[in-house]
Amino acid sequence: MSSSSTGVPSSSAGADAANGQACYLSASNAQAWEAVYHSVDAYTRGQVAAVVADSAAQFVDAFYSTLLADAEAGPRLSHEIVSTRLHSGMTRWLKGLFCVRDQGDIAALLATQKKVGEVHARVHIPIHLVMAGARILKNEIALRLRASDLDGTAASVATQYVCNLFDLAIEQMSRAFMRDTNRGARNDEAYRLFALGQNISTERERQRAALLEWSQAVLIGLHYRAPEQALPRLAASEFGLWLQHKGGVLFESAPALRQITEAVARLDEAVLPRMMQGDADGQHSLPDQVRELQELVARIKHLLNGLFDMVAEIESGSDPLTNVLNRRFLPSVIGREISISRRQHSDFSVLLLDIDYFKAINDAHGHAGGDQVLRQFAEVVHQACRSSDFVFRYGGEEFLVVLVDTGQEAALATAEKLGAEIRRHRFSIAEAGSLHVTASIGVATFDGHPDYAYLIDRADKALYLAKQAGRDRSVAA
Ligand code: GH3
Ligand code: MG
Ligand code: MG
Repeated sequence: MSSSSTGVPSSSAGADAANGQACYLSASNAQAWEAVYHSVDAYTRGQVAAVVADSAAQFVDAFYSTLLADAEAGPRLSHEIVSTRLHSGMTRWLKGLFCVRDQGDIAALLATQKKVGEVHARVHIPIHLVMAGARILKNEIALRLRASDLDGTAASVATQYVCNLFDLAIEQMSRAFMRDTNRGARNDEAYRLFALGQNISTERERQRAALLEWSQAVLIGLHYRAPEQALPRLAASEFGLWLQHKGGVLFESAPALRQITEAVARLDEAVLPRMMQGDADGQHSLPDQVRELQELVARIKHLLNGLFDMVAEIESGSDPLTNVLNRRFLPSVIGREISISRRQHSDFSVLLLDIDYFKAINDAHGHAGGDQVLRQFAEVVHQACRSSDFVFRYGGEEFLVVLVDTGQEAALATAEKLGAEIRRHRFSIAEAGSLHVTASIGVATFDGHPDYAYLIDRADKALYLAKQAGRDRSVAA
């Protein structure tokens, strides 16, 4: 504990304070807060606290009316409960920020900011709105300080003090906000994967059957229902409920999901009412209406199929042709390796492989022949790597390997070995016999740069050099 543990006003951290708070950067550090409180003398602190206490309610009024008028923020705040709670809660928060007597108060303030950040994460109040709100409050307080007993310099010092406190509070809120939001996103993703794994194989058939069942119920109802009886709505059917509650999780924001929802609405709001009305206007005969119903149901089926195909691919996580990893996971995998490497001071490397003259193989044996070579190529690469390495399909005839725990020298040796395996392998194309292929390989070892794209870029440049130098070789970045 620093010498300032004797309490905020009895400052011995004044020297730090005079230089700003550079030595205590983090808002989660109580000393950073102490340093801000000590950056002004007790008189100024008292003046600011008095100004805030006197006018807190008006400041909050100004905050609230500005945000309410805003198109983005307004709707989030307009509920009456929010408004009454927010008003009193924020007045208390504001007074608390400037009314600190000892370290206990600072600990309580830290806990409060954390709690506020967690609430914001739960109710999805984005950080930029919090910052916009803080800007309004800061300005209100600064105006009032200028009109107070403090002279010009003192008012400016006081304003800086106010701004620093606001910034610390928001920084601390953001920390909790981000942690909770990330946790929420991870849970959402985990739930989605769970839902995918649970359902994907049977769900497709089940929902097709549920849709069919609904359309049969409508057709039967057309003939056998009592005149006052309504035809069943698709949105309320098993399929409709599944679509809304589980389809939304599985298919997230896929455009086809919206198209399906539109088709469902059209059936419920246009087609069914017309069917129930009968051919009153003489313009929509029953066969026409049934045809329209069947067309819309067929459209939903088709869109649904596409969505299921899409998630089936995500579920397996692998490229459908070659069975190695889909490149969409590359950022997650390399991001993880970067943090492991930082934590353990270990190395890792990437290899970027590009098959030489692949176009000629396609030209000679057709696209299907090329596909067979690609599949076998992926298998050769996969077999030649350790089970701890990651093999991705990076593009058409390009593959990327993440070699874990591997420095530059070992990576280059692995690339040479891999090149030799490929050279030696007899690739076979049905009806065309066997052929040999070669690949050029760019090697890059993680050098500490936090952006994974930079690492891949270095491998890509090395690959280019390998091609330039005559192909069938490895070059290190
Ligand atoms: P280089 O030695 O310079 O790499 O020559 P290349 O012919 O391999 O390279 P280029 O980029 O000119 O051609 C790559 C070809 O790979 C073109 C493209 O049609 C083909 N290709 C991309 N994806 C697939 C695929 O999934 N299957 C098949 N059969 N061919 C593919
Ligand atoms: Mg290529
Ligand atoms: Mg190529």
